[in-house]
Amino acid sequence: MFDLSGKTAIVTGANTGLGQGIALALAEAGAAIALVGRSAPDETVEKIKAIGGNSTVVQADLSSLETVDEIINTTRAELGGLDILVNNAGIIQRNNAIDFTMDEWDSVLNVNLRTVFFLSQAFARSCLKAEQGGKIINIASMLSFQGGIRVPSYTASKSGLMGLTRALANEWASKGINVNAIAPGYFATNNTAALQADPKRSAEILGRIPAGRWGQPAELGGAAVFLASRASDYVHGSILPVDGGWLAR
Ligand code: NAP
Repeated sequence: MFDLSGKTAIVTGANTGLGQGIALALAEAGAAIALVGRSAPDETVEKIKAIGGNSTVVQADLSSLETVDEIINTTRAELGGLDILVNNAGIIQRNNAIDFTMDEWDSVLNVNLRTVFFLSQAFARSCLKAEQGGKIINIASMLSFQGGIRVPSYTASKSGLMGLTRALANEWASKGINVNAIAPGYFATNNTAALQADPKRSAEILGRIPAGRWGQPAELGGAAVFLASRASDYVHGSILPVDGGWLAR
């Protein structure tokens, strides 16, 4: 039920952090992976090779839409199919709302929401053309549910992503395309480096996590395999928190 042998997945932003954890988990379940991003994902390629998996690299800057079609076409051409899209790449800008700049707004919305929508559209078109189903997994956030502090564009993007997940699920569920999201809690990656380095904020965050610790990227893998596999065929438009219990508080 969780076997991904013969399936192909795109994972954006897979050179590091949560994207790397997800790419490894999908590869371990048997999927071939297109590692899509702007930095060379050498470490991820090596780790996938070490577990006997198969991957290809598609270089793309996701702040613009220029490479959207190329990502889909190259993946199909090089890996022979396309079944799963993980929209993981994302950025954050921290500043007081009163001082926030247009660039801090646009840069985040472009990567975290605009490209996610058009890449999902290109993926769905390609599934329909191939007369097959597909699985889209968006990486949301606790700030899909909460306001956050000093990250207004990030909160807007991740709250928007939750709505987009539901909107696309409503249109594409009947076509065999599952659109769902994972909402990670606080994970130790580059994205949260500033929070981890701030003793006050770090202690506040840790004190609120029932599990009592930050998550590790590998701990998102199980949720990703579930949402990518046959096990989730009747799951549409859901937002699955993997948060050490944060939202339960
Ligand atoms: P990360 O270590 O900073 O990784 C972000 C990834 O996105 C990197 O691979 C990065 O590539 C890629 N990326 C950013 N801008 C890009 C662009 N213009 N074009 C192509 N790739 C781009 O952070 P992470 O924590 O793993 O974040 C992954 C996702 O999880 C994000 O959507 C984030 O919002 C979400 N998330 C993280 C947490 C957490 O606690 N860590 C919690 C909730 C949600 P480069 O290395 O080239 O920059």
